[in-house]
Amino acid sequence: MEKEFKRIVDDIRRSKRITKTDLTYIFENAEGNEDYLFEAARNTAEIFYGKQIYIRGLIEFTNYCKNDCYYCGIRRSNAKTERYRLTEDDILSCCDIGKELGFKTFVLQGGEDPYFTDDRIADLVRKIKERHPSCAVTLSIGEKSYESYQKFYNAGADRYLLRHETANEDHYKKLHPSAMSGKNRKNCLLNLKEIGFQVGCGIMVGTPHQTTQHIYEDIVFMQELQPHMIGIGPFIPHKDTPFCNEPRGSVRQTLLLLAILRLLFPKALLPATTALGTADALGREKGILAGANVLMPNLSPVDARKKYLLYDGKICTGEEAAECNMCLRRRVERIGYSVADSRGDHPDAVI
Ligand code: SAH
Repeated sequence: MEKEFKRIVDDIRRSKRITKTDLTYIFENAEGNEDYLFEAARNTAEIFYGKQIYIRGLIEFTNYCKNDCYYCGIRRSNAKTERYRLTEDDILSCCDIGKELGFKTFVLQGGEDPYFTDDRIADLVRKIKERHPSCAVTLSIGEKSYESYQKFYNAGADRYLLRHETANEDHYKKLHPSAMSGKNRKNCLLNLKEIGFQVGCGIMVGTPHQTTQHIYEDIVFMQELQPHMIGIGPFIPHKDTPFCNEPRGSVRQTLLLLAILRLLFPKALLPATTALGTADALGREKGILAGANVLMPNLSPVDARKKYLLYDGKICTGEEAAECNMCLRRRVERIGYSVADSRGDHPDAVI
């Protein structure tokens, strides 16, 4: 263990801050030293969460999208995507199955699909909360107005995931068409927080043109926002997107960043994402061992999950919800953790 690396890790842990120099140092000198960082991250997660992992049932309810993000497989211009949307009954039955399997959170994620108007979403949220009052509902349906978010909140939605993707506006423009802006996305996050949602931001690691400076700016933005959740995963190219020939993000860098985020945000809910599990067969386990404390197994009908392809090679597209659930529980236990049965709210959230 190198002295300088240890000093930096100890310093981040104590101060809950990181300089750009130290971030660069970690990325460049991790080899042979990273275990110290991962152990510090695990210990930090244990302070608030013990060895408990929270599971969220992910329901990918539509792959229609009006946006055209260059990295995403379900972007509007991808004519090869076979589009689908689940009916209200389909979605409610996913929740029922999830509830039976022990899930206490349902995450409704989709493209920005105009069919799902605010009223339809609010209605859906209301119905889920009526059937499963002990469960939390998380939405992940993109950029909406303050009023729309307020409607979802009033209908009973508890949390909202909206990765900011990159805090740097120039970099944002390299990942999205000019109709979209990083400023608007950040503003959405501020609105969500003001309304009272538990809010999740996040980035992909290793997107085209990303630099350490950008990641540093992401951290600064997160420190301003103080999100309850932070989702990060490696960028993985999708064959029918403009980024089809770009290299995928590094698993190691994702794990390092995950551990750093754990030290900076001890109470945050940090998922070991499906993208991490796709880039590395043991990615989710490695994520937990680097400080993550959330897993988001898929509750979507098998048919839907095969069509909700944000990137190539997505895992678990052939399994039923019950199989995925068992498999994940086993994976968690194998590394000495257990699946929590509480809702898994952020410790500071007002419920
Ligand atoms: N429409 C919603 C949900 C987007 S999908 C929204 O706008 O928030 C959820 C996340 O998947 C995205 O925020 C993005 O960070 C990630 N993602 C999309 N394409 C990806 C890719 N090719 N590789 C890895 N992650 C990807």
